[in-house]
Amino acid sequence: MMLLWREAWIKPLSEYDLGSKICAYCNKRFNDLDFVTSCEFCGIGIMHDLCANSHINTHHGKQVNAKVDAHKDKPLHDYQ
Ligand SMILES: [Zn+2]
Ligand SMILES: [Zn+2]
Repeated sequence: MMLLWREAWIKPLSEYDLGSKICAYCNKRFNDLDFVTSCEFCGIGIMHDLCANSHINTHHGKQVNAKVDAHKDKPLHDYQ
């Protein structure tokens, strides 16, 4: 199993810092204390954290796989 670690520190940002009141994925307004993030693969803008997951899964599947493959150079277990 491979899990993808997303930087998980929380940084409070105001609307002004974000430059947007609306999620770039679902186009809904952000609510107070929503978890938001940006896409590391494109410049779509700020999205809800969950929307970013959907966005990355649907739009960047290949890039995620490439990233996973890049870490497969060394086998985790050497049974030989
Ligand atoms: Zn959203
Ligand atoms: Zn993206």
